Amino acid sequence: MVSRVIPVDSFDLVIFGGTGDLARRKILPALFRRFVAGQMQEEARIIGAARSDLDDAGYQEFVREALAEFVPRAEPAQVDAFVSRLGYVPVDARGTNGWEDLAKRMRTGVIRAFYLSVGPGLFGDLAERLHQYGMADEDSRIVVEKPFGRDLESAKALNEVLVGAFDESQIYRIDHYLGKETVQNLMAVRFGNVLFEPLWNSQYVDHIQITVAETVGVGGRGGYYDKSGAMRDMVQNHLMQLLCLIAMEPPSKFDPDAVRDEKLKVIRALDSVAHHHIVRGQYAATKDTASYREDAENPRSFTESFIAMKLHISNWRWAGTPFYLRTGKRLRARSSEIVVVFKDAPHSIFGADQGTHRNVLTIQLQPNEGMTLDVTIKEPGPGGMRLLDVPLDMTFAEALGPEAEEVPDAYERLIMDVIRGNQTLFMRGDEVEAAWAWTDPLIAGWQARNDVPDPYDTGSSGPEDALMLMHRDGRRWRDIRE
Ligand code: NAP
Repeated sequence: MVSRVIPVDSFDLVIFGGTGDLARRKILPALFRRFVAGQMQEEARIIGAARSDLDDAGYQEFVREALAEFVPRAEPAQVDAFVSRLGYVPVDARGTNGWEDLAKRMRTGVIRAFYLSVGPGLFGDLAERLHQYGMADEDSRIVVEKPFGRDLESAKALNEVLVGAFDESQIYRIDHYLGKETVQNLMAVRFGNVLFEPLWNSQYVDHIQITVAETVGVGGRGGYYDKSGAMRDMVQNHLMQLLCLIAMEPPSKFDPDAVRDEKLKVIRALDSVAHHHIVRGQYAATKDTASYREDAENPRSFTESFIAMKLHISNWRWAGTPFYLRTGKRLRARSSEIVVVFKDAPHSIFGADQGTHRNVLTIQLQPNEGMTLDVTIKEPGPGGMRLLDVPLDMTFAEALGPEAEEVPDAYERLIMDVIRGNQTLFMRGDEVEAAWAWTDPLIAGWQARNDVPDPYDTGSSGPEDALMLMHRDGRRWRDIRE
């Protein structure tokens, strides 16, 4: 009982950076899966573009290898059919090389999408060249990867360049967390039922936790990461987007601008965060793994690989309900979840010896997607009235049948949304800028204080102070587990 596949209109999709890591691991496998699902028209074309000297056949071979690695169970006949739609044009984003050839390849009468899967330093060059060579028509779309700037100033500069060549309605700023099935299900559950929305406020919600935990360290990208840190790399974008979706007011309709207007209001209503409500950490070495500073090759680095914070949203709905956010590397497990902890029932008719029982809605995004609601029931059997909390599975896998387990990857959904022209799950320029405007003073504050992150053990839940952040409020983080 999964949704019907409705083919999207025919398109020419150019992947700038088509030979890069993201293209190999995510974009091309996602396109392949949509092709197998029957979502692409016969005439849809994908064109790789990068400096590497390849021709169509060379790129097709490159993509075959990528699919063998990342979609190992792909059927050979389907791989053959998919790669026959692929072409390649060598293009230099900073020069003139290849641009006329690329322009000649583009067809008229089909949707044009340009995916900028290159370093952010090239976004401006590519947008300008697309304009200059007449490829950016009214109906074309441009997809931009993260990071979208490193502060408000650079994000504004990037927005200016993009808006100089494309209309805002053509710009798709990707945050792949928004493409997750469960994130959209969260909106369906919140706004499609009468059950939750009346309780979705500070009167009934004790607090909300958002955790994005990774087991990996910064590894090979230590140099890049050290200039960024968890705040820029994760909080400003992914965690902020999740916070917006969980906290926003019901939009008047499920329409891109209506949804994004509400998300923007959440960011603008965020209080500034007190210094003692932020905990920053750096992972320490183990006998088998390097420390953050070794990975970053910067023995005096003050960059955080972990951050936890307590936030307040100053509006009628949320005044008084804290939001606790944390994210970090080399933690106990790879796990991303949002946890909505409801308040205790106002009065327990069962007596104090039954302990406290709370409804908890858990929205898990990684490693598996799913949603559970802890409800209190009577422990079955003749042992008298004893209460027990049990999770109600709201993924409804049984009701939806076996196909429901094949949840499409976020990139599959997002790329198809680009072709469909639906921007709901993409960030608008003003949202990104508002998130930086909130982030910048926090970063500036700890830079001015020379704030040194606390070391934490690999495989732990982060620094001790992060646990204390909640303990002080009489609350505790959910265990980080897969
Ligand atoms: P990458 O592996 O370094 O690939 C960069 C691509 O850009 C290559 O195809 C490269 O090919 C091409 N390129 C470099 N300079 C060029 C130029 N002057 N003109 C044309 N093409 C050029 O990077 P990536 O990991 O795929 O990341 C791409 C973007 O996605 C970045 O913005 C990154 O932050 C973002 N991102 C990546 C991931 C990930 O998991 N990898 C996740 C989220 C976001 P040639 O050398 O052949 O030109």
